[in-house]
Amino acid sequence: MKKGKKLYEGKAKIIYTTNDKNLVIQYFKDDATAFNNQKKSTIEGKGVLNNRISEHILSNLSQIGIKNHLLKRLNMREQVIKLVEIIPIEFIVRNVATGSITKRLGIEDGTVLKEPLIEYCLKSDKLGDPLIAEEHILAFDWATKKEIEKVKKMILRINDFMIGMFRGVGIKLIDFKLEFGRLKVNGKEEVILADEISPDTCRLWDSITDKKLDKDRFRKNLGDLIPAYTEVAKRLGILHEQSNVSAVNVTKLSSVKRKRK
Ligand code: 5GP
Repeated sequence: MKKGKKLYEGKAKIIYTTNDKNLVIQYFKDDATAFNNQKKSTIEGKGVLNNRISEHILSNLSQIGIKNHLLKRLNMREQVIKLVEIIPIEFIVRNVATGSITKRLGIEDGTVLKEPLIEYCLKSDKLGDPLIAEEHILAFDWATKKEIEKVKKMILRINDFMIGMFRGVGIKLIDFKLEFGRLKVNGKEEVILADEISPDTCRLWDSITDKKLDKDRFRKNLGDLIPAYTEVAKRLGILHEQSNVSAVNVTKLSSVKRKRK
């Protein structure tokens, strides 16, 4: 597969064309941003860990029948994915109230929700990803009723699966963000899971101590982001228990791989 030109650069990833018009390469950067781009940094090794963790979760989801864009991981920072038309909505799934919902609704941090809550935000950096209602999605034709119904069903299965997967390794899945895209299959349009699922897009708390193992370490200046993401990867069995992957090691690994290409 030949890597072509840059198609799109986001806050944490870059998309490149390939010689196959239906496939693109997704490159995971080390850049971290928060609060609508007001806080920015580069955290060496983050992209490598997110690439591995997202690959693990999406391939597991594929095995339970959740269609998604991942074809295969190429190397430490890149994966081959199907080119989709991204639905311009961030689908937020919450099991425990924390983050923006606690401020917006005055809910006590850590409140366990009676049932999973799905929220919709318009994907717009300019507007700060505003919260919208399902009615907005339909009124402005950002997605059809059929697509939303399909997505909601997929989201609840994804949430059930991920809660169980993380519970098994001593992690609580507090909330997360998903994106979906449209794909033409045999002339028919289908909605599939896209983007990434990683500690950048989920809130993950240690089951016993409530220690934060996700991007809140960056947002809240808690430090030790790489050890936290490494801990998630180790518990999921992606990295070997005895391997001590520090930020430096992760970076060395990725540059070794790059030189070999
Ligand atoms: P909140 O609305 O509380 O800030 O975020 C809810 C969940 O969605 C968190 O797990 C958070 O990581 C994720 N999330 C919401 N918006 C974004 C976004 O623009 N980028 C990323 N990476 N995650 C997001």
